[in-house]
Amino acid sequence: MDRRNFLKLGGAGFAGAVLLGTAGGTALAQTGPSLAEQFRSAATEYDVPKELLLAMGHTNTLWEMPPPTASDYEPGDLHGRGAYGLMQLYQNPSRDTLGRAAGLTGLSEQALKNERAANVRGGAAVVSEMVGGTKPSGLDGWYEAVAEYGDTELYAQEVFQTLERGASTTISTGEGLRLAPQNVTVPAMVTALSSMDYRGATWRPAYGGNYSSGFNRESDININRLVVHVAQGTVAGTVSWFQDSRANVSAHYVVGDRGAVFQCVRHEDVAWHAGNWTWNKHSIGIEHGGYADNRSTWTDAKYRASAKLAAYCCRRHKIPVDREHVVGHVKVPGSTHYCPGKHFNYHRYLRLIRRFK
Ligand SMILES: [Zn+2]
Repeated sequence: MDRRNFLKLGGAGFAGAVLLGTAGGTALAQTGPSLAEQFRSAATEYDVPKELLLAMGHTNTLWEMPPPTASDYEPGDLHGRGAYGLMQLYQNPSRDTLGRAAGLTGLSEQALKNERAANVRGGAAVVSEMVGGTKPSGLDGWYEAVAEYGDTELYAQEVFQTLERGASTTISTGEGLRLAPQNVTVPAMVTALSSMDYRGATWRPAYGGNYSSGFNRESDININRLVVHVAQGTVAGTVSWFQDSRANVSAHYVVGDRGAVFQCVRHEDVAWHAGNWTWNKHSIGIEHGGYADNRSTWTDAKYRASAKLAAYCCRRHKIPVDREHVVGHVKVPGSTHYCPGKHFNYHRYLRLIRRFK
């Protein structure tokens, strides 16, 4: 079912039924409790609305459970934020919500990183503790706790937008999950206005120590490539990691599922995204929220928003629109990544760039 049909039905057929744990068609191969059950039991155990856990899980990974290797903490690696599992528990030099989850649940860090049920329980325990002993009566009362959970208000925005719109996905185990649209308020965020390169982007500057400035790339250095990445995580998690003084990585732009574009580093500065100094010096890095292994990462809205941005970059810096100059991270000499992954369609991307240029 596509999103529009789901929303249509959501108003009628699914009213009140937030979570239907029915399998989507054939696949019932998964053994053990369904993800729907795991959300339900974690919600009950830690007194968190299951709709909220569903929205967090969908925002994080589209309800998939990535392996720890997807975003293991790796100093200086663009995709090594140390964010684990469906609930994106963190373990890096700045944050240790994974350790906090272990303390609250009695589960081992290994289990929290590797087992979906444990990871969901851990996330529920942490957000429950963040909201405090007296639980809010409605979903809106969880907004601040969700912002604290993701370490940025941007995360709360994403989660509450998911609550507002609802979600419906058949995950890779074959299980179909649905979150009916909820009646929530998504607070408007105040963004500091600042001069930017691309007018379609919201300015979210990276920490000054996470990129190199003073190169005057506009006139002295030729910018001749675009490097495409997939974040192995959420947009909010990626932007906030670039703002973290311990990250030592950054990209110029981050593009989200629904087409939101954030700029973190100016074109004249050298972002640290390619893992290769020469390439960093001569390129613009474009990150995308999502996972290399998840086909659903590449939404139409994301392709279009990213291609519009790429068209702007190509026009401005006279970068040819071809596979030599618009490249995946995987093509950077010395790269150990298969970023942006096999689901990224270069042909479609280049065609869109040419159209928008
Ligand atoms: Zn990459």
